Amino acid sequence: MCKVISICNQKGGVAKTTTAVNLGIGLAKEGKKVCLVDCDAQGSMTIALGYKEPDRIEVTLATLLSEIMEEEEVSISDAIIHQDEGVDLIPANIDLAALEINLVNAMSREVMLRMLIESIRSEYDFIIIDCAPSLGMMTINALACADSVLIPVQASYLPVKGLEQLMKTIQRVQKRLNKKLVIEGILLTMVDSRLNYAKDISQLVIDTYSNKVPVFETKIPLSVRAAEISVEGTSIYQYDPKGKATAAYRTLTEEVLSRG
Ligand code: ADP
Ligand code: MG
Repeated sequence: MCKVISICNQKGGVAKTTTAVNLGIGLAKEGKKVCLVDCDAQGSMTIALGYKEPDRIEVTLATLLSEIMEEEEVSISDAIIHQDEGVDLIPANIDLAALEINLVNAMSREVMLRMLIESIRSEYDFIIIDCAPSLGMMTINALACADSVLIPVQASYLPVKGLEQLMKTIQRVQKRLNKKLVIEGILLTMVDSRLNYAKDISQLVIDTYSNKVPVFETKIPLSVRAAEISVEGTSIYQYDPKGKATAAYRTLTEEVLSRG
């Protein structure tokens, strides 16, 4: 059985992409078949996996979605990149921004990505979707096709208002588009355990949400090495095998696996 997890938070810089990459590669290291789907026109996940010039990639998520829109044959196998660390990637680039605008007038605009994901589901154990920092049409598509949503929250600022908006969007998607969508959990990221206010914010998130939605036991610590990998184009496991953030992403992988 394949599980589709969308990594979502409309705030930028909360470690969505870092989490998508390192959870995805973590699951692949545990022997799972994993496809990572870049759903951000910035192509940050594509870059983070070592493809430094996403705008030069010809066949991307935008190509596939426009083929679906036009009811043409979908060139999935041309789009999928087999990355060195054992995951597959459907890349994205700036073309996705134009596609998102065209999508607004399309029939079934909220479920275009679902049509694509359904067609590859049987080939994978996990499909991990990295969302853009927005609640726009592509993010709605990512929520509409997912089994669960994982919400990274940076532990160094007060996230409550943004989270309320995200929760409302999730509830709307659950109601209208995807009844089976569940919240996988809130993941606290960039936790600086030396700072008391980071502890306070962690506790605030736990107090505010843990009776409504799961909060992961695992917290991702703040780590300079983790910050460096986004330009290195490798996973944290390769770049810093003994690091504390690496250990945390291993534990997160186990936590996700233990939920089945
Ligand atoms: P998002 O996808 O939510 O915008 P990113 O994954 O791109 O977030 O992370 C935002 C920035 O924070 C990047 O520069 C990244 O390298 C850095 N970063 C991610 N995780 C950590 C961490 N645990 N400690 C320190 N910096 C981190
Ligand atoms: Mg990102």
